[in-house]
Amino acid sequence: MQIAIIGGGAAGMTAAIAAAREGATVTIFEKMDRVGKKILTTGNGRCNISNEDMDLSHFHGGTRSFIQSVLEKVSPEDTREFWESLGLVLITLEEGKMYPMSLQASGVLDALRMELERLNVTVKCAVPVEKIIQVKRSWRLVSAGGIDLGRFQKVIITVGGKASPQLGADGAGVQLASQLKHTVVPLRPGLVKLRCRSPYLKALAGCKVEAKASLMHGDEVLQEEWGEVLFTAEGLSGPPILRLAREAMVPGRNCSIALNLMENMREGECFWWLKQRSERFAHMTVQEMLSGIMNKRLILPMLKENDISAQMKSGQLNKHQIQAVARMIHGWSFPVIGDAGWKEAQVTVGGVFTGEIDAATLESKKNKGIYWAGEVLDVDGDCGGYNLQWAASSGILAGKSAAYVAAEVEKV
Ligand SMILES: Cc1cc2nc3c(=O)[nH]c(=O)nc-3n(C[C@H](O)[C@H](O)[C@H](O)COP(=O)(O)OP(=O)(O)OC[C@H]3O[C@@H](n4cnc5c(N)ncnc54)[C@H](O)[C@@H]3O)c2cc1C
Repeated sequence: MQIAIIGGGAAGMTAAIAAAREGATVTIFEKMDRVGKKILTTGNGRCNISNEDMDLSHFHGGTRSFIQSVLEKVSPEDTREFWESLGLVLITLEEGKMYPMSLQASGVLDALRMELERLNVTVKCAVPVEKIIQVKRSWRLVSAGGIDLGRFQKVIITVGGKASPQLGADGAGVQLASQLKHTVVPLRPGLVKLRCRSPYLKALAGCKVEAKASLMHGDEVLQEEWGEVLFTAEGLSGPPILRLAREAMVPGRNCSIALNLMENMREGECFWWLKQRSERFAHMTVQEMLSGIMNKRLILPMLKENDISAQMKSGQLNKHQIQAVARMIHGWSFPVIGDAGWKEAQVTVGGVFTGEIDAATLESKKNKGIYWAGEVLDVDGDCGGYNLQWAASSGILAGKSAAYVAAEVEKV
């Protein structure tokens, strides 16, 4: 039984191992010069492989029942056993995030590659698959320049989405899906920095603050996230911002990010507190008084925005000026004008429409013998290990199903 896997990322390699363990003969075709380039960059090189909190609300796109079915067929417990079967030990660090004990993504890639080798999976790198053509009950793969790559009974497509195309996945799934008459939910970057409009970004670039970041649509709060926000020359970044990006970039939506830099007190309390401080430290300049309570780099932009001179004595601040500072500390607004684009994105929102895929096997409902897994599907997860969990659960399910169905067909 010959199974081809198009794309040697996390989903492709887990699919290959699962299929080969079921006895199938497996070939991976990978466009880049080596497999698993993206894995090396995950979790800042530490590979945040999963999360202890696998609530379905952490997954988006697709239908709830589709995602649930895949995560039930190959559960987080199953994938944990899978990783352990490769010799890895997983540990849990902050916020339920799971990592290999070595804290090295390269160790995860090594473990996958060793197992592929042990199972005699053929890995062909620098081979981009461009066409999939049905020939009776099998599929012929064709590479760039019309090179025939052979015929396979089953094909698993794991070419990823379009996020970070420098690591390989550049949207090939859209072309393959259209050849195979699948519907594609339009792609857009996810888990990505946001570009914002503010005259102060250049001055603030590189500054990090702990904040509550609220995604605002007019006066409506759409989503709130907490954590370290990073100012960039073009906008905002950091984990809370990446988590807001999916909702912020819904087409046609005009949003802004409001940063609350002092969540431990309400705006009214903050006003009275600032008022007391301005009286107590009346001899200090406003800049000096504020530098005791907030990141120094935020002070000048904040004062400039409210037409307050930094050199003015604190004791001269009037009620309206103190109110304006308290308001800004609790809701400094940054209108969103876009995202930082595919190169910066960690994941793809959109992909092959899951309604056309069998949730129990990941076989296409349109083309018998074709399976889809990983980021190429219209499923994306939150930051925190959910995307690698999806890649592994769906990869293993597709690999097992293809090998199992293939073996059944062979028996007939
Ligand atoms: C910087 C960064 C950090 C991340 N950190 C985390 C994290 O810590 N935790 C987490 O859960 N997720 C993380 N993610 C997301 C996660 O890495 C991906 O969702 C996951 O790796 C997707 O796996 P995949 O196999 O579906 O796709 P990919 O990993 O994109 O693999 C697709 C493969 O297919 C190949 N390919 C593409 N087209 C063709 C073709 N025509 N022919 C042959 N081969 C082709 C590509 O070269 C690539 O190797 C991160 C992503 C990035 C970019």
